[in-house]
Amino acid sequence: MAGLYLHIPFCRQACVYCDFHFSTSLKYREPMVNAILREMELQKDFFKGETLQSLYFGGGTPSVLEHEEIVALVQKAFKTFRWAENPEITLEANPDDLSQEKLTQLKAAGINRLSIGVQSFRDSDLQFMNRSHNAEQSISCLQNARQAGFNNITLDLIYGLPNMDDEAWKDQVRQALNLGVPHISSYALTVEPRTALHHKIEKGEHRPLDEEQAARQFKILWEMLDKAGFEHYEVSNFARPGFRARHNSSYWQGRPYLGVGPSAHSFRAMHRYWNVSNNALYRKAIEKGELAQEYEELSEKDRFNEYLMTALRTREGLDLLEIEKTFAPEYSYYLMKEVEPVLGKGQLHLQNRRLFIPQEWRFHSDGIAASLFYI
Ligand code: SF4
Repeated sequence: MAGLYLHIPFCRQACVYCDFHFSTSLKYREPMVNAILREMELQKDFFKGETLQSLYFGGGTPSVLEHEEIVALVQKAFKTFRWAENPEITLEANPDDLSQEKLTQLKAAGINRLSIGVQSFRDSDLQFMNRSHNAEQSISCLQNARQAGFNNITLDLIYGLPNMDDEAWKDQVRQALNLGVPHISSYALTVEPRTALHHKIEKGEHRPLDEEQAARQFKILWEMLDKAGFEHYEVSNFARPGFRARHNSSYWQGRPYLGVGPSAHSFRAMHRYWNVSNNALYRKAIEKGELAQEYEELSEKDRFNEYLMTALRTREGLDLLEIEKTFAPEYSYYLMKEVEPVLGKGQLHLQNRRLFIPQEWRFHSDGIAASLFYI
């Protein structure tokens, strides 16, 4: 089933590693919400009647929105598209926004899954990353979220941080486990071009990141979470049974999704679309009743390579029958020839007509998938 993503392009401050699209000025929040409401209307035929199973507020920091704005966006989404019963409605939130009152309001607005940007339980890491919250707020907001009735909570953690040795990282994972959340997303710190972190490293203010440290800490992460009963169902995602993210899973399964808001991406059948990454240009177009969007038609090769890339990030891996059904026969022949040496190195396993990357190699999933691309 399909999913709807709403991009809320505002943050209280800029994290040093972030290359997402956002503004730290909240001045135009209200007209932006109006533009997002209007874009939903303009996109009402995108799914051609297909049923949606998930709504995801991402960004940016959607928890900067006022209660009435969230209610208006949820209501508009439900009025405009066709929905399955009990859809997953996720909102990304930063700990400093989650007061008890805010949590109660989110619950009342229909949000049934919270994605909390904890990133670290150490103040020194949070200061290094220029996060807007502190460690105490992370812990208290998780406890408050429970009290407000949220059971489906995921938190984000970052590994591979400078000055975080393996013992300190183990302690981070332990703290997350002690808080009893049913889902954890964890990413290696990366240096993206044009970010503050990139500039600092270029200027020699920070030493470059240590990839071996990140690989070690990834192994610590999945071993600890495995032991605690979490499924490592995607490279960066771990869930207790029954708590996999429905919205993100539909991306990995190649289902259609509509992204609304500046910089949001959409996908349906043979096409990928992306909105302009500029708040003013986005609003101006939408106010004129136009989409500020570009698109590309995906070739069979693009779709094949994309399927490899996303499927091999998941625990279930890639379905060889699906490849036979979906792509021309030359793709199956090509793949079977290319996987041979990778299977030999143990970087891929083949079981019940599925190819998947074992956990010990999953840190390198993207590289392994790219080595199998049809070129
Ligand atoms: S809060 Fe999230 S979107 Fe905003 S700057 Fe930080 S990482 Fe980026």
